[in-house]
Amino acid sequence: MNRLTQTCDRCHRGIRQAVSTWASAVLNFVYPPECQLCGAEIEGIGPVFCETCIQQLKPSLTNECPRCGAPAGDYAELSQGCPQCRKESFAFERVIRLGIYGDQMRLACLRAKGAGGSSLTRGLADVLVDQKRPIFDQFPLDLVVPVPEHWSRRFLHPHYAAEILSRQIGHRLGVPWSRSVLFKQRRTPKQATSPTPRRRQQQQGSFAVKQNRDLAGKTILLVDDILTTGATADAAARTLKLAGTQRVIVAVIAVSPLRS
Ligand SMILES: [Zn+2]
Ligand SMILES: [Zn+2]
Repeated sequence: MNRLTQTCDRCHRGIRQAVSTWASAVLNFVYPPECQLCGAEIEGIGPVFCETCIQQLKPSLTNECPRCGAPAGDYAELSQGCPQCRKESFAFERVIRLGIYGDQMRLACLRAKGAGGSSLTRGLADVLVDQKRPIFDQFPLDLVVPVPEHWSRRFLHPHYAAEILSRQIGHRLGVPWSRSVLFKQRRTPKQATSPTPRRRQQQQGSFAVKQNRDLAGKTILLVDDILTTGATADAAARTLKLAGTQRVIVAVIAVSPLRS
């Protein structure tokens, strides 16, 4: 590519950017952006939630279990996990969560799964990364991947929250992202309230890693929207580790209280 072509490309990019910024400013003037949770007007270009909702989405600074992400008492001994997960064996090392599955978070997760939930999901990812960056920075992450869905579910629901969430987290952290490393080879029932042993049984062997993927020695961030019993994330993490991954860290929007 010669110097003239490069200069032209830069000019075109600059013009496109200026037009896009100008168009956004006009649209924001005519239709001021609204918070995607409460509908309040938002100032400026970029945020999808108002400041009040962002504060409600952020977790209160209570202690949390580093293994499963569940809230814990201030003086709880958590070196071996909390009472909810101590007897469980997980293939992932820890869970990084944005919030507790309270009213505002439940609403956000429901809307994130719905049609048009992409920008809301990206907004949640930004809040998650900004709030928990010191924890993310503790791990030398090589790759971000979503917990995959079976193709038949993807076919019916093309908007997949875990995929959009993981992509935005990778983008925000500056870590490569891929949706083609891990895939779901067998459809499993959606039984959020099943007891943990049954969920583990259902998930066993349901994931696979694409051939020719060199994961040896890598640290992978596995992303899902909600963690319930941890059985799904555990099965996905186990598959990644069998393929050579050294460490798997899980990131979720929220940890559901539906645990048994
Ligand atoms: Zn709001
Ligand atoms: Zn725990």
